[in-house]
Amino acid sequence: FPSKLPHVGTTIFTVMSALAAEHRAVNLGQGFPDFGCDPKLLDAVDQAMRAGHNQYPPMAGWPALREAVAAKIEALHGRRYDAGSELTITAGATQAILTAILATVHQGDEVIVLDPCYDSYVPNIELAGGVAVRVPLTPGSFRPDFARIAAAITPRTRLLIINSPHNPSATIWTDAEMRELEALLAPTNVLLISDEVYEHMVYDGAQHLSSARYPGLAERAFIVSSFGKTYHVTGWKVGTVAAPAALTAEFRKVHQFNVFTVNTPMQAGLAQYMQDPAPYLNLSAFYQAKRDLFVGGLQGSRLKLLPTAGTYFLCADISSVSELNEAEFCQWLVKEVGVAAIPLSAFYGDGFDQRVVRFCFAKKDETLVEAAARLRKL
Ligand code: PMP
Ligand code: GLN
Repeated sequence: FPSKLPHVGTTIFTVMSALAAEHRAVNLGQGFPDFGCDPKLLDAVDQAMRAGHNQYPPMAGWPALREAVAAKIEALHGRRYDAGSELTITAGATQAILTAILATVHQGDEVIVLDPCYDSYVPNIELAGGVAVRVPLTPGSFRPDFARIAAAITPRTRLLIINSPHNPSATIWTDAEMRELEALLAPTNVLLISDEVYEHMVYDGAQHLSSARYPGLAERAFIVSSFGKTYHVTGWKVGTVAAPAALTAEFRKVHQFNVFTVNTPMQAGLAQYMQDPAPYLNLSAFYQAKRDLFVGGLQGSRLKLLPTAGTYFLCADISSVSELNEAEFCQWLVKEVGVAAIPLSAFYGDGFDQRVVRFCFAKKDETLVEAAARLRKL
């Protein structure tokens, strides 16, 4: 039968993790921590299971978890989402994004993505029958180019997807940029997915500026986050969507027939663990130290490092190290140098030629020290 996604293969993250295992390489490719989570979180889930929280929770998610998320967003960003009608717990950010797209995009609708972008967005749009319109971020700086975004908006544009802190470039949007987007969208009916999974990883005193802070964005936005990133449990696949009631109602129509709901004990445990804000408030300092350790270890390497303002990724320009393109370079690097990285071409449509690769520094200090030692030899 004809493929629904003829251009899609296995994701680069799966491919690179398999190559890393095969070649016993240090895996800085796929974004996940190589260390454990807080034992208090494990205890909270254990207690939830033993307390009998093992049957279906309400379709929209465990009520105490929705309350905790609503309280956090209000405390950090000053907007109150109603836990009953405006917050939904999802099977990770990935399901949240797919469900928001399926709920809003009709056959032939256009969806603007900003390249480079996370690899699930475009296949998700295609599955919904939409047309992905790839608008590049400014080459080199990865800043949004509002003239190009404005030029891409047509009467068929249903949705725009933004992501700050940004995977893979590790940039974060400024207040001026968020305001400019708000002004640009004001006269339109374009909806927004604001992918904020790295919301608690911003460095050098910067603040994460959620779309929740900007009324003109929040009123049209599905704001997506992920406990996997924040609490070092990427394998748990629990995320959130905050959106105005009318958008949430449509989201839940799809969600209930997509996953119906998300596993109960993780949600109940997370609700308990979230009562203490320290883990997410301290996350930026935790990862800033890892960024600085890794960058320090790369002093003297011929890689040209790009700045990391947020996320747990560090990008590097390879042009002074190799003649290979970034995809070939990553294949060579994992086999010959023993370090796995992700080529930025995996996040672009056709015509990419920036020769940049991404390293994940959500790793034990000794992993970062070992990887840096190998990379210094380049
Ligand atoms: N969006 C971005 C930008 C991501 O980097 C990721 C995780 N790699 C996701 C969404 C998906 O998150 P989850 O694992 O919670 O599905
Ligand atoms: N989000 C992770 C990354 O960017 C990977 C998640 C996945 O493997 N799909 O590395």
